[in-house]
Amino acid sequence: MPPRELISPAAIARRVAELGAEIDRRLPAGPLTVVGVLRGAFMFMADLVRAIPRDLTCDFLGVRSYGDATVSSGVVEITSDLGAPVAGRHVLLVEDIADTGLTLHYLLDLLRARGPASLHTCVLLAKPSYRDRHSGTPLDFVGFDAPDAYVVGYGLDAAQLYRNLPGINILEP
Ligand code: 5GP
Repeated sequence: MPPRELISPAAIARRVAELGAEIDRRLPAGPLTVVGVLRGAFMFMADLVRAIPRDLTCDFLGVRSYGDATVSSGVVEITSDLGAPVAGRHVLLVEDIADTGLTLHYLLDLLRARGPASLHTCVLLAKPSYRDRHSGTPLDFVGFDAPDAYVVGYGLDAAQLYRNLPGINILEP
C-alpha cells in the first residue's frame, strides 16, 4: 500500500520557518554549530538552517540505530564523526525523530563531553513513546508531535526508500 500523507509539504515549510525564528530568538549569541544526524535529518536540516537568520556552521554525525528494520535495535553506532571540534561553541543537535530517545540521549552525552558552550536539541517529530519515557528531559524545539506509527518521507526512510517524498507520510503495514 502506498504511504498516506500525514503532514503536507506546505505545513512543514510553515513550521520550519517558525522553528528557525524561535531558535534564533532563544539561542545565546556566539558561534553556532548546527549538527545534523544522518541520514534521516538531512532534508530537515537543509531547510532549518536556511530559516535561522544568523552566522552558523553545519556539521553532521552519521548514526545507525535501526539497520533496515522498523523497530529499534537498541544499539546506537556512530558511522561518521563531526568534521570539527565543538568546544566553546553553541551546538544545536538536529534529529529527525525522537522515538525511544535512545539515539538522542546517546548523542547528547557524546556532545556534552566535548565541552560546547551550550547544547540544545531540535527534532522534527516527537512520538508519544518519547514523551512517556522522558517527560523529565524535554526537547528544546519540536516540529510536530507524531502519532505512534512508522512515518516516512521528507528524509525519513523505510529500508532506504521514500526519503524523497516531499511530505511526511504514514507507512501502512
Ligand atoms: P530512538 O533512538 O529515539 O528510538 O529512534 C531514533 C531513530 O529511529 C530516529 O532518528 C529514526 O532514524 C528512527 N525512527 C524512529 N521512528 C521512526 C519512524 O517512524 N520512521 C522512520 N523512518 N524512522 C524512525
